[in-house]
Amino acid sequence: MRLFSKGIKLHKDLDIDFSVSTQNVSGDVYTFLCYAGQEYELLIKEGSRVEKYTKIAVADGIPIYASVTGEFCGVCTFESGDVTVIAAHIKNSGEYTPPFSALSHTDIPSSPAELLDLFKNAAIIDTFNKDYLCNTFGKYLTCDSLLLFAVDDNPYVVTSCAVMCDFEEEVLEGLSIITRSLKIKNAVIMMQKNFKTAQFFKKRYADIKVMRATDKYPARLNALIYAKKNNSLIITPETCRAVYRAAVFKEPCVTKTVTVWGDAIQKPAAAQIPIGTTCGELLDMFESHTQIGKIVANGVMNGYLIMPNDIITPFIDSITVMSDCAKMQQKGCITCGRCTAVCPVGLAPYYVLRRAAREGSSKAYFNFDLCLKCGCCSYVCPANIPLDTYIKLYNDERSKADAQK
Ligand code: SF4
Ligand code: SF4
Repeated sequence: MRLFSKGIKLHKDLDIDFSVSTQNVSGDVYTFLCYAGQEYELLIKEGSRVEKYTKIAVADGIPIYASVTGEFCGVCTFESGDVTVIAAHIKNSGEYTPPFSALSHTDIPSSPAELLDLFKNAAIIDTFNKDYLCNTFGKYLTCDSLLLFAVDDNPYVVTSCAVMCDFEEEVLEGLSIITRSLKIKNAVIMMQKNFKTAQFFKKRYADIKVMRATDKYPARLNALIYAKKNNSLIITPETCRAVYRAAVFKEPCVTKTVTVWGDAIQKPAAAQIPIGTTCGELLDMFESHTQIGKIVANGVMNGYLIMPNDIITPFIDSITVMSDCAKMQQKGCITCGRCTAVCPVGLAPYYVLRRAAREGSSKAYFNFDLCLKCGCCSYVCPANIPLDTYIKLYNDERSKADAQK
């Protein structure tokens, strides 16, 4: 791993050319309905047969579609990070269901209201916005441009880059539908790999600008800064592709592309699987060359641990499979300074371990309120100190103390 003065070098695993393979799963599937506490209404009875793409429930006003064909066995709950998700258990028959027009609308959207309807009818989730797009979309109705985040933003997520490279035509058609519906003049693609291909598309779609992303982590931060300055809606390639498939093929969003990588995986790649596939079944599609230690969803920086019998929700973009747990044992700080070198906002994270920081200081690099919780410092620390967690605890303590004054 090479260090930059700010940001970190992408992991060497990811120099491998990624491609997305479409996988039909044979095991049972647990289709995501909603989070615990949200309201949902089931439209099918236990024991009944469901076809892939049929509407099985409505959760918080959003239709939920079966991601495979089989028997509905009831509702169950799973822990996913610090939230509980509710899912519909479908005993997968493994039958192939030919695509059919599952969505009722007929026209390609041409106004914001029609686009919003499409997002809702097709249950399109955007992982950058971490929600069903129809729920977060309202605030973007007056945006000036679209930023398509197609960056290989490892070690956070890489799905965006894989989908962009493998389904460019569909992604760009989807982008074009969104820009036309919102009457937006500009769309910007932020990418890093396949930049030459991007230049080709720039010629074909004259209104699309292509911006080369920096190779410093976190690229996500650069996207957010650009979006704020330019009043842009940030979306992922997977969302654009889902818009295209919903508008043209009337296909609801029932699959998820997930990148599987980590030191236990022989050949990292991205797989398109039905939403609700178990993590164990996803891992069976990949060969591991050693015993699996930990599985982390959504990146080693600030993702969370999952188990093989947990499910792939629409919010999981990547699975990191690690082998060497011993390496993760925490040791004492050796004051190497790596955490300071990588911090994108110029903090000196290791000071959080010291009295000087706890007692307060006006120096900029102690201002832990600025911490983005990106996790770069913990990732590079050779002593495996979870610095971002300590900073969070420190900030929480300080806010409590300030509230009591
Ligand atoms: S990277 Fe880890 S060991 Fe190095 S100074 Fe920071 S906390 Fe200490
Ligand atoms: S988690 Fe906070 S302190 Fe650590 S590198 Fe990111 S912004 Fe800096």
